[in-house]
Amino acid sequence: MTSKLYHECYTQVCQARSLLQELQDVGFNTIAPVDSIQKTLNDSVDLSTMRSEGVVETLSELQAEVELCHACVLHENRNTVVFGRGNPQAALVLVGETPGYGEDQQGAPFDGEAGRLLDRILFAMGLSAEDVYICLLIKCRPPVNRDLHADEVKACEPFLKRQLALLNPVVIITLGHFAAQTLLGVQTPVSRLRGQWHTYNGVALMATYHPDYLLRSPLEKKQVWADMVMVKQRLESVTVKPAG
Ligand code: SF4
Repeated sequence: MTSKLYHECYTQVCQARSLLQELQDVGFNTIAPVDSIQKTLNDSVDLSTMRSEGVVETLSELQAEVELCHACVLHENRNTVVFGRGNPQAALVLVGETPGYGEDQQGAPFDGEAGRLLDRILFAMGLSAEDVYICLLIKCRPPVNRDLHADEVKACEPFLKRQLALLNPVVIITLGHFAAQTLLGVQTPVSRLRGQWHTYNGVALMATYHPDYLLRSPLEKKQVWADMVMVKQRLESVTVKPAG
């Protein structure tokens, strides 16, 4: 199968999965669970084999491409690209926003106090850093105290979407406004997106607050915990991690 044909098939599969998820969400419970359909589809489109045969890109190839990227001005001041960390086979992928100073120095997302808070949240869910994969919407550090520009999000967003397609998770958690709004294509604040399931390309998506915000507003931790309980229940209901 050619790469172009694979991508066309993959798009059709994602659209079908998205439709089935929406039907399931509104109560068509006689439809087979989306996750089992996803596994069947992934079994018939064997991503691992296709990657080993060089038909589709690998995460390493994508990372190498991102590390050479000059598509927006943020490359000018970066120390390093912050691509992602954790287990690429994980059922759960968390998507943050932008690298901070420490992340730019270390090359890994969620360094520092926000990262330690995120680790504690994961620990409370019974997960460790090795059980999840963590990445960011924007791969290069913006200048301090300045909002992202729309052209920077537009330039970097395709890398995140390709990364998520390769990771093929069961559940995505977005942390903060930017990742949720970008993946869902909405302008709704995270306060109104959280607490309910969304679908991104057929994958269940939970939007919640960013750990940086929780450090400033600790009373919101209980809202995040309510979101994490929903995620935990969904992950526990999935017995088979899709191949990929
Ligand atoms: S932020 Fe993204 S689009 Fe901009 S230079 Fe870095 S990798 Fe490229």
